[in-house]
Amino acid sequence: MTGFLPYGRQTIEDDDVAAVAAALRGDFLTTGPKVEEYEGAFARATGAAHAVACNSGTAALHLAALAAGLGPGDAAVVPAATFLATANAVRMTGAEVVFADVDPDTGLMTAETLAAALARAPRDHTARAALPVHLNGQVCDMAALAAVARAKGVALIEDACHALGVEGIGATPHAQSACFSTHPVKAIATAEGGVVTTADADLAARMRSLRSHGMVREPDAFTDRARAFEDGEANPWWYEMPEVGWNYRLPDVLCALGVSQLAKLDRFHRRRVEIARRYDALLAPLFPRLRPVPHGNHPHGWHIYAVLVEFAALGTTRARFMAALRAEGVGTQVHYIPVHLQPYYRKRYGDLRLPGAEAYYARCLSIPLFPAMTDEDVRHVADSLARLVGSA
Ligand SMILES: *Cc1c(COP(=O)(O)O)cnc(C)c1O
Repeated sequence: MTGFLPYGRQTIEDDDVAAVAAALRGDFLTTGPKVEEYEGAFARATGAAHAVACNSGTAALHLAALAAGLGPGDAAVVPAATFLATANAVRMTGAEVVFADVDPDTGLMTAETLAAALARAPRDHTARAALPVHLNGQVCDMAALAAVARAKGVALIEDACHALGVEGIGATPHAQSACFSTHPVKAIATAEGGVVTTADADLAARMRSLRSHGMVREPDAFTDRARAFEDGEANPWWYEMPEVGWNYRLPDVLCALGVSQLAKLDRFHRRRVEIARRYDALLAPLFPRLRPVPHGNHPHGWHIYAVLVEFAALGTTRARFMAALRAEGVGTQVHYIPVHLQPYYRKRYGDLRLPGAEAYYARCLSIPLFPAMTDEDVRHVADSLARLVGSA
């Protein structure tokens, strides 16, 4: 046993530390050569045509939402079972959020719940985008979602913050873009960090400009030609700002960490799959009082291993259950409080009933899963759960 087991944590090794130290001693701390190197490596690792690095998953979602043209007068669909940032990124553009319900057992938005949400979109707004979330690392049925989205003229932006490492995620055959986070609990860590991938070169260029104040430096794009080309050539200092942007850049130092971590993505992912298989086998006897979120052996990022627990039937509450596990050195978490229940969104959109999201939320619990867990750690978690479920 490696002491207290959190539900997730980063794996930082000596060569990661060396990569950061080398970047710190280099000429660039922020925009430097590691940015392009990281973006190239990320595109190769995910099968994407373009990868745009930025300084959080939230920034990635915001850039993707802006690039989709979201703004005041528009609406975008977000599943209720997600982290705050998926919905907040829509609000940051001025567009309104339409919360979709999710499957009560997987927590995923489906073609049906997407269609139902689109039917509820405010009539005086243009439904322009939907943001499916690959919750826990499960992959949404993108082909089915895309069929609904296409029929309604809606772009898909994947919130793939849980799904880095799943074959094909990031290549976006069914979506306009996919957003990733490299927060320490995610598949790889750059402290804070995010990436948007897209197949559209113009969209990637626009997001690169939006992540750096809205500035463009390509002479072809200059419009104030008299000031830009005083000598017939573009002035070397010249830049233009056609639209307002942000400072969402990921520093060179952290891109160096990203390059080092990305090289380990396959190894980390393989270990996550192994741990999940062990949990599947060890927890099977606890059915039906406790069962893993059904995954049917579909591709899975295994960012989170979530179980569904019938707390009331066990005569307990989730808080007491979590406290008992904590006493055994087992950290757990709830992913997530349905976003439509947050005071900000209730004030804006009223009291929505989304029974699938509420049923998922009532039962879900995330148990420890990270690459450095040993097989004994996994058995300790499973034994603790068995004792609690058997004795509660
Ligand atoms: C982590 C996460 C985000 C936000 O990522 P940050 O890097 O923390 O800003 C967004 N959506 C989901 C589903 C996430 O798990």
